[in-house]
Amino acid sequence: MSKPACYSVKAFATPAAAAPLAAAVIERRQPLATDVQIAIRYCGVCHSDLHFARNEWGFTHYPAVPGHEIVGTVTAVGAGVKKFKVGDTVGVGCLVDSCRACPSCRAGLEQYCDQGLTGGTYGGWDKHLNAPTLGGYSQEIVVTEDFVLRMPANLDLAAAAPLLCAGITTYSPLRHWKVGPGHKVGVVGLGGLGHMAVKFARAFGAHVVLFTTTPGKAADAQRLGAHEVVVSKDEKQMAAHAGSFDFILDAVSAQHDLNACLNLLKRDGNLTLVGAPEKPLPVAAFPLLLRRRSLSGSLIGGLPETQEMLDFCGQHGITSDIELIRMDQINEAYERMLRSDVKYRFVIDMKTL
Ligand code: NAP
Ligand code: ZN
Ligand code: ZN
Repeated sequence: MSKPACYSVKAFATPAAAAPLAAAVIERRQPLATDVQIAIRYCGVCHSDLHFARNEWGFTHYPAVPGHEIVGTVTAVGAGVKKFKVGDTVGVGCLVDSCRACPSCRAGLEQYCDQGLTGGTYGGWDKHLNAPTLGGYSQEIVVTEDFVLRMPANLDLAAAAPLLCAGITTYSPLRHWKVGPGHKVGVVGLGGLGHMAVKFARAFGAHVVLFTTTPGKAADAQRLGAHEVVVSKDEKQMAAHAGSFDFILDAVSAQHDLNACLNLLKRDGNLTLVGAPEKPLPVAAFPLLLRRRSLSGSLIGGLPETQEMLDFCGQHGITSDIELIRMDQINEAYERMLRSDVKYRFVIDMKTL
């Protein structure tokens, strides 16, 4: 495949794991027949952006441009584009491509593509430019229409941006495990993902208990929809809930005691991990053996379910609780995220780039 014509856009990038993010210029392809060109208005800041920028998962190519909670306005479409037109308000999440032929892709589960995560919005491989994909901390992005989502018209656009990752990553496992009325559901960690999990689990009718290391977040957790709040460092509070949960979603970004969380599950209960800490989390056998508990993981969500989640949020008026920042505040935002000091998602106002 020959390289398509390109143009330059402003971005924020990092040249190395230990370097801060700074202004840069990157290339985007001129829209091809099935491409949608998007002027980015807001981009959410996911903890994955930080893991990736600092190469904590070990697969970052530099210079790296994070950002996969993208909302913006269509500025051009290729001749073959059917679903979008100039002026539409659209979203792009964690995926911009996949093989589209394997069983997972054909089932609309592009995040589990047999070829791996080659189509990541960042950290993937751009087959047109034969280069690493570059994410949403940028003025514009060009994406094939099958990976572009329609934003509900009634939602605040900045607050809706985090739905593209934090939203779908929590919605998908809660749906997969059929969380609903009569279920006691735990959410571990009140950050970007955790606060969306609380909102969705509540909207699905479950009894929601939030586990936090930050006692000062209790009132917020209740306002966001939790029925109960447990400080996970308090053994007495933890013991009071032992063996009582149907389902737990673990959205913690760092090392923590997974076994203490597993012990909260009742017979046949499941703990799904969405957090992706840098280092392995030790799991003891007995918390799983006792009560036939299971531990699983879940990765973002496919395109059809992401659209379903956005439509659900439109119908129910669900968005993220955000703090809007300027592009040049990104390094400070990362430091605050590491201190669990985010209420509850940073979103970059892209006109400040
Ligand atoms: P975040 O906003 O930084 O939230 C993480 C929360 O984890 C913190 O607010 C804190 O909540 C808790 N926490 C942090 N350090 C902890 C520790 N040492 N022990 C216990 N709890 C701790 O991060 P996020 O954007 O929600 O992302 C969370 C994780 O999910 C990241 O690892 C991210 O890479 C991953 N992720 C995975 C997927 C996927 O597809 N599976 C998608 C997106 C993100 P409290 O203050 O309440 O304790
Ligand atoms: Zn993310
Ligand atoms: Zn595939």
